[in-house]
Order: sequence, then C-alpha cells, then structure tokens
Amino acid sequence: MWTDIATHISHTTDTPFQVKHHRPVGGGCINQAYALDGGDRAFFVKLNQASQIGMFEAEALGLKQIYQSQTMRVPRPICWGTTDSRSYLVLEWLNFGYGTHQSWEDMGRNLAAMHRVSSDRGFGWDQSNTIGATPQPNPWTQSWLDFFLEHRMAHQFRLAARRGGHFPQQAALMAAIPDLLAGHDPQPSLVHGDLWSGNASVTVEGEPVILDPATYFGDREVDIAMTELFGRFPNEFYSAYQSAYPLDPGYDRRKTLYNLYHVINHFNLFGGGYESQANSMIASLLR
Ligand code: ADP
Repeated sequence: MWTDIATHISHTTDTPFQVKHHRPVGGGCINQAYALDGGDRAFFVKLNQASQIGMFEAEALGLKQIYQSQTMRVPRPICWGTTDSRSYLVLEWLNFGYGTHQSWEDMGRNLAAMHRVSSDRGFGWDQSNTIGATPQPNPWTQSWLDFFLEHRMAHQFRLAARRGGHFPQQAALMAAIPDLLAGHDPQPSLVHGDLWSGNASVTVEGEPVILDPATYFGDREVDIAMTELFGRFPNEFYSAYQSAYPLDPGYDRRKTLYNLYHVINHFNLFGGGYESQANSMIASLLR
C-alpha cells in the first residue's frame, strides 16, 4: 500500500518519492492518520475503508477551494485514491507550533477574508460532503432559510430519528426557524463548515491554518458559532474578525441555532448526552 501511495505522490508532484518511515499520528476522530517521511520531503496521509473515497475526495476538493481563495492557509491536497481495500488522502505535511496573539489575530482576519469569497450560485456547493462521517448534502439553493431548514436541520433530524433520537419540541423548533432567521439576509460565504478548536491550528512559523473542512457556501456565522461550541478560540481571534467583517445584530441567538446542527450531528455520530444537550438548546431557542 505505501509503495502505491508513494508512486501516486511521485506522479502528482513530478518528483520521485520513496517512503523511508511511516508513523501513526494521533488526534483524528474519523480516520487513521500517518506521517510519511521520505528524507527530504514528508506528507500527511489519512486512511479509511475503500468505500470512504468519496469523503476523501470531497475533503480534498474543499481544501483546494480554500487553498485557491488565497485567504487562509490549509494543507495543500496532493492526491487521493484507493489501494488494497483502503482509501487514502495525501496532504502537504505541516509542522504545528504554539499560537501567539498575532497568530490568532491573523486567524480572525484571514477567516474574514475567506468569508468575503462568495458564490453567484447561492448557498450550497458543487457536491455533497461529510460532517464528521455524516453525509452533508449541499444542493445549490437561492434562499439561506430554505437551505438551512431542509439540508441542514431536517436532514440531521431525519438521521436522528433513525437512530432513535427523541426531540419532543422538534416540530415547534422547525416551525420557529423562519422567525429565528427573520430579517437576516446573509450573502453566501465560503465557509469551513466544521470549525471547532481541533480543526484550527498554527504552524511553527506562527501562521494560522484550518484543517479538515466540510466546505460549502453558507452563512459565515456558522463558522463563528462553531468556534464557540467546544471551547472558544482566543479573544484576539474575535476582535480581529469583528474589525475586518463585523457580525450582524442577532448573532447570539442564531449561534445557538447553528450549533444545534452540530450537536444533533454529534448525537448521530456518538449518541449519549448529545440528545439532552440538543433538547436544552431547542428549549432555549423556543423561550
Ligand atoms: P480526522 O479526519 O480523522 O478528524 P484530522 O484532519 O483532524 O483527522 O487530523 C488528525 C490530526 O493530525 C490533527 O489533530 C493534527 O494534529 C494532525 N494533522 C492534520 N493535518 C496535518 C498535516 N497536514 N500535517 C501534519 N499533521 C496534521
């Protein structure tokens, strides 16, 4: 398998690459990750079952889209494919360090620049992708309300029902979403889509990086909301973002709604206490 991957890297980069060492890298939730060291060059490789190649392809295309926007550093996707019943995704290797105040300010400013990248096709993306391992549909839709209602909330609630989830106020919440988003008219922004603290890092040179995106064109507030879901980013991030691209009034209420999508997704992925967390969020949105 490693030889096939090395051959693919050699072809794609037009430079011969041979694996000298490979070692597992911890920290991921969904895939097995490895460092591939060829002496003078190194790559980051994710592995999964062959059937997951679509997930890797969508991640690679999302990284490519962000990379080409030249606003925010992401690991450059090199190649992806299947071999020996495994699927793989090869990315540029990055050395991570510790963020300074400056790095987090840059993270805020760069994310604001990325969010100014828009689409004239509305909300959605050219293909579906995954959020964690959950399928995430992205059909192009003119209205953010329609997109968020159908392709985000209704979709996750359908998956949760199959998993036995119990959300007594689901219908009331779905009926209230038009009011919760009333008067809010976001432009489609290029978003990361899964921007919790584990997917934001800083290189040893101090440059901010975002990883593992679930890219689409959506309301930019979905990214800011998620930075507040599992531990907040440093304050410098928020002040730099706000000066570059101020959030619209009413963000705090929408934040809970947008994060509910991720909490129901966590119920779909991991079960457990995420059901009661989602129910408390629904109750607070309906108060
Ligand atoms: P998963 O898709 O399984 O969630 P991640 O993309 O989150 O995997 O990666 C797992 C870990 O590997 C991250 O926490 C990070 O420390 C490290 N990592 C991710 N991308 C790179 C990279 N391009 N170079 C070096 N290390 C990386």
